[in-house]
Amino acid sequence: MYDVWKNALAEIEQQISAANFSTWFQDTSLINTENGEIIIGVKNTFYVKQLRNRYLDIITVALKNNNLEVKTVDFEVQTNTKSRIQPREVFKDSALKEHVKKIRNTNAIKSQSNHETGLNSKYTLDNFVVGSNNDLAVSAARSIIDAPGDRYNPFFLYGGPGLGKTHLVQAIGNELLKKNPDLKIFYTPIAHFYSDFIDAVKLGKGKEFNLKFRKLDVLIIDDFQFIVGKEKSQEEFFNIFNDLYQLNKQIIVTSDRLPSQIKSVDERLASRLTWSGAFDLQLPKFEDKCAILRAKAELMGAEIEPEAIEYIAENVNTNIRDLEGEFSTILLMSEVRGLTPLELIENGSISVNKTSKLRPTSAKQIVEKVAKYYNLTTKELQSKSRVYNIKNARQVAMFILSTELSLSTNKIANEVGVKDHSTVVHGIRKIRNDLKLDFTLRDQIEEIKEKIYG
Ligand code: ADP
Ligand code: MG
Repeated sequence: MYDVWKNALAEIEQQISAANFSTWFQDTSLINTENGEIIIGVKNTFYVKQLRNRYLDIITVALKNNNLEVKTVDFEVQTNTKSRIQPREVFKDSALKEHVKKIRNTNAIKSQSNHETGLNSKYTLDNFVVGSNNDLAVSAARSIIDAPGDRYNPFFLYGGPGLGKTHLVQAIGNELLKKNPDLKIFYTPIAHFYSDFIDAVKLGKGKEFNLKFRKLDVLIIDDFQFIVGKEKSQEEFFNIFNDLYQLNKQIIVTSDRLPSQIKSVDERLASRLTWSGAFDLQLPKFEDKCAILRAKAELMGAEIEPEAIEYIAENVNTNIRDLEGEFSTILLMSEVRGLTPLELIENGSISVNKTSKLRPTSAKQIVEKVAKYYNLTTKELQSKSRVYNIKNARQVAMFILSTELSLSTNKIANEVGVKDHSTVVHGIRKIRNDLKLDFTLRDQIEEIKEKIYG
């Protein structure tokens, strides 16, 4: 069994990046092959999700190529798989210089913009780490790559700054282009769309501008929230949108919030943008952050102790851009000082503390704001009442307490006046499910958050 898996791994290694290979396959093992029911052992549930979402096909093919009967492939958490936490290594000076050089090189080579498409080749799906913060959006992205213009059209992606919107939509463009180099794809931030449009009109070339867009197969508009107040370009965008949509061309739009929350966006446009749903990117959880940092380290060929990664993940609570920023700072400091990242942290030369200004809110405040939003008193929200409106508010409060403060279900139970934590588990799950399709609820929760932090 060991050899089969070893051979399969060797094959998989050929097909994906070295960074992804060592991140996701390092501690895997083959547990069962009987009756074609393959079970692969992994370190924790996080890996189960990643492997299933990203690599199921590759794994299946690799196993079949090694003459295994494969009916199903499943993953199981093995507590005895070797831990990834390795004894820390101390960099030797020359090794350190070498790795910093590598960092610079990979950055220099990988980042290449294409003027015609507006796409930058450094954004790929392969280097986009999938976690609980983005898995729905990524699976929609995959289905667009499989069949553009089909199921998720338009694809509306929203989320706060630095959470990966640009990366993900650029990656869709790059993957589509890889599959079909003849596709006409164009990526543009809405602000550029606007200024190009104004320029074209000034030069009397409004028609050409429109035609250029109408010829596209895929249009990617970034940071749509900046459309605010630009009626003329909004109208032009709306026309182009309708034309492309009717031709079944794929439209992709990102924004930091839902269209309904952008003032001065035409209502019809706002509703059209979310016709096929809206996908959001959330703040990554601790495990997601560690996975992102590990992937970055491996991609750069940088050595950093697992404890240092955990330290950064623990202390950056704003977004992924800041996470990367702190990570690069530590690597560079480590070069300058000749110390390993962990040594830097341990001797106090570096202290990371990026916590959103939005954070300092209390459970009490959240419960108060939710109650107020639904025209209830805090007491009513915390009562045992099962009246729909009250119960719903209580569940929303549970959900927000969980996502914003990461409180335990027992603590949440206390805050919202319910007895046992299973009610909380149920409540949070209910809201999470409803959110998939209920856009009013999404709007409500966004508005409540604005009230909490505003
Ligand atoms: P946004 O457009 O939402 O402001 P970006 O797409 O610019 O955010 O992402 C910020 C940085 O974080 C980029 O360097 C991007 O590559 C990185 N990043 C975001 N999400 C991920 C992810 N899931 N995996 C790897 N890198 C990510
Ligand atoms: Mg962006």
